[in-house]
Amino acid sequence: MSKVVIPNFKLNNGLEIPALGYGTWLGLNEKGEFIVEDAPKLVDALSYAIDVGYRHIDTAHLYRVEPEVGNVVRQKIEEGVVKREDLFITTKVWNSDHRPEDVEKSVKASLRRMGLNYLDLVLMHWPLSVSVEGVDEKIDYLDTWSGFESVLKQGLVKAIGVSNFNVEQLTRLLANCQVVPVVNQVEINLNLGQKELVDYCQKNNILVVAYTPFGRMVPSRLDTTCPAIRHDDPIMLDIAKKYGKTVQQVALRYLYQRGICSIPKTLTKTRVVENASIFDFQIDDADVATLQKFDNNYRTVRPVFWQNFNNYPFDKVDVDITEIPLSLRKWKNGANLDID
Ligand code: NDP
Repeated sequence: MSKVVIPNFKLNNGLEIPALGYGTWLGLNEKGEFIVEDAPKLVDALSYAIDVGYRHIDTAHLYRVEPEVGNVVRQKIEEGVVKREDLFITTKVWNSDHRPEDVEKSVKASLRRMGLNYLDLVLMHWPLSVSVEGVDEKIDYLDTWSGFESVLKQGLVKAIGVSNFNVEQLTRLLANCQVVPVVNQVEINLNLGQKELVDYCQKNNILVVAYTPFGRMVPSRLDTTCPAIRHDDPIMLDIAKKYGKTVQQVALRYLYQRGICSIPKTLTKTRVVENASIFDFQIDDADVATLQKFDNNYRTVRPVFWQNFNNYPFDKVDVDITEIPLSLRKWKNGANLDID
C-alpha cells in the first residue's frame, strides 16, 4: 500500500492541522436529494485514507455522515492504526442552529453521533441563519459566535472557526470577538482565487481552508456552458506533464504553495493517494504566473436561494430565485437516514 506524508500548518492557537484533509460531502442529485447511496463507499474510502496516512477529516452536521465518520475513526483507533490525538476532525454547525444555546446542542449532538468526546475544530457553516422552515432568522453571527466561544471554553472542541465569511464579515467579527477564529473555510480553486480574502486572512493569522478545491476541473463536474477551466485544458495538461503529475495534483499543489489548506473529496481509492501526493514537487514561478491567469471569479458553489437573506456573503447574481431544497433544511443522519 503506498503511503502519503502530509505536512502540517500551524493555527493561531498553536495547534497543528494537516495541510490536506479528506472531504466528506456526498452532495445532492439533480432533484436536490442527498446522495445517501454513496455512504458505504465513503466508509471504505475514508478507512483507506486513514490507512494510507490522512489525518484530517472534514465533515458537517449537514453531510449526514457523522455516524459513519465516527465509526471509521473508532475502528481505526481500535485497530491501532491511529490514536485519537493523531487525528484532526472538523465538523460544522448548520444555519438553523445559530442561537448560542443551539450551537452547544448542535456540537453535543455531533459528538454523540460520532461517538467522540471532543472535536478538533467546529465551524460556523455559513454567516446566515435560516430556520428549518426556510425563514430568514436574521440572527447576528456575533451572537452565534458567542455560542462557539462557549463550547471552546467548555472543552467540547479544541478550536473554533468560520466558513463562507467575506472580508467585511470577518472584519466585524474580529473587532467584536473574544476568540479569533482559527480558520475560514471558503471555496478556492483555479477559477476562484479569492486573493483579497486570502490576503486578509493571512494578515490576520487565520488559516484559509479551500473547499471545492477542483472547482469544475474534474470530469464529473464538467460544464461546457460556464467559463470554468476544464480538466482537459491543454495548458493544464502541459504543466501537469512537465512535473509528472495530474492536473488535479497541480491544482492542489498550487493551493498549498499559496499557504492554503485543502479538503478534496473522493470516493475513489487511487485518487485518495493521488490527491495527497503533492508534497514532493514545486511549481515554478513561471507556471504559477500562468495558473494565476485562470482566476476569473467563477464560483462553483452559489446558493442563490439565500441571496436575499441577511448576511449572504457573496455578490448577488441576476437569476430566478429557486426554493431552498428541503434537503438543506430537514434531515436525519447516517446511511439509513434514521439517526437524530
Ligand atoms: P471537490 O473539489 O473535492 O471535488 C469532488 C469531485 O472531484 C468528486 O466528483 C470526485 O469524484 C472528483 N475527484 C476527486 N479527486 C479527483 C481526482 N484526483 N481526479 C479526478 N476527479 C477527482 O469538491 P467538494 O465540493 O466535495 O469539496 C470538497 C470538500 O469540501 C467537501 O467534501 C466538504 O467536506 C467541503 N465543502 C465545504 C463547504 C462549505 O460550505 N464549508 C461547501 C462544499 C464543500 P469521486 O468521488 O468519484 O472520486
